[in-house]
Amino acid sequence: MTPSPRRLAILGATGSIGTQALEVVRRLRAQGEPLQVVALAAGRRVQALAALAREFHPALVAVAGEEEARAIRPLLPAGVELARGREGLARAASHPQADLVLNAVVGALGLYATLSALEAGKTLALANKESLVVGGELVLSARRHPEQIIPVDSEHAGLYQLLSGVAREEVEKVWITASGGAFRDLAPEQLAAVTPQQALAHPTWRMGPRITVDSATLVNKAFEVIEARFLFGLSWEEIGVVLHPQSIVHALLELRDGSFVAQLAPPDMRIPIQAALTHPRRLGPPPSRLSLPGLSLEFRELPRERYPAYWTVLAAGQAGGTAPAVANAADEVLVEAFLAGRLPFTGIAAGLDWVLARHSPSEVRSLSDIEAADSWARALAREFVDGAGWAA
Ligand code: MG
Repeated sequence: MTPSPRRLAILGATGSIGTQALEVVRRLRAQGEPLQVVALAAGRRVQALAALAREFHPALVAVAGEEEARAIRPLLPAGVELARGREGLARAASHPQADLVLNAVVGALGLYATLSALEAGKTLALANKESLVVGGELVLSARRHPEQIIPVDSEHAGLYQLLSGVAREEVEKVWITASGGAFRDLAPEQLAAVTPQQALAHPTWRMGPRITVDSATLVNKAFEVIEARFLFGLSWEEIGVVLHPQSIVHALLELRDGSFVAQLAPPDMRIPIQAALTHPRRLGPPPSRLSLPGLSLEFRELPRERYPAYWTVLAAGQAGGTAPAVANAADEVLVEAFLAGRLPFTGIAAGLDWVLARHSPSEVRSLSDIEAADSWARALAREFVDGAGWAA
């Protein structure tokens, strides 16, 4: 039986995940998989997006704003509809021709795309972190059934695969792994002097700049714990994080009887992306292959003092309400400042602590509650970067 065509909307098409997803689509199509790209959205890289539109001929292309729309218009093939702004992103996410939406938007804007896709009844391959970190409760109420979201992040994709094969009451605890990022082998006192260039050299993964810095602070891992809690309906105590420098084991289940089952794969995002795009099937050949002989796998406890930002962001997740949105927005500003050379690496953790200490979380009832918390946190984080908090 030939599978029916899968029609994709790819949001964040020119970013790290989007680019790798389109690589996967090209390869699967070359081997006869009936995949169509019906909508593409990207923010500002209009040249790259226009090239993708000429290659994939989607029905709709969405860009960030008026300026990008003007720039891309003459570059698009005839018959491609153009949309812009938040509304354009929502249109791509809910496109009538799409059945699977890959949300690889970077940043809090991704939440709008997630909610639009879920409300339109699409299956959502979720790579945008902020959706669950910032808007977990809103996402859960928009989700019609648990299978509507397929996680793309490697750890959650691992858990998703593992949990489908085990009765829930037999699971004592789930574990996700952390590579420890670029600085896991430095002494804590060396961290103040590290450069953005060093932070961007991730030992195992190739990813966008913010998430690479978030891996070095382990803020990314705290976000992933928050995401896992919403995705799989777990308590905080049921989610463990273990340091695993090789990034080969992505997730483990600790079972009631003392057995562990683990998911292993090379640190290659194309593998979980492909699993999401072809779910529930598994297709070969793999984008890259793991060779077992000679492989050694190490696990260590997370050193608390090395990763202060992890604990701050995790506490924000546990506080709930607007606190994780504040953590996310502040982190975005602080990471940007670090990458621009305006803040030392250790200032990211200090800034998160400073901003969150000034926040009283309130309940999230709507997107506007999140937006308000987000702008408040950005303003405060900028104040911190500009010296008010930093000098204190
Ligand atoms: Mg991850």
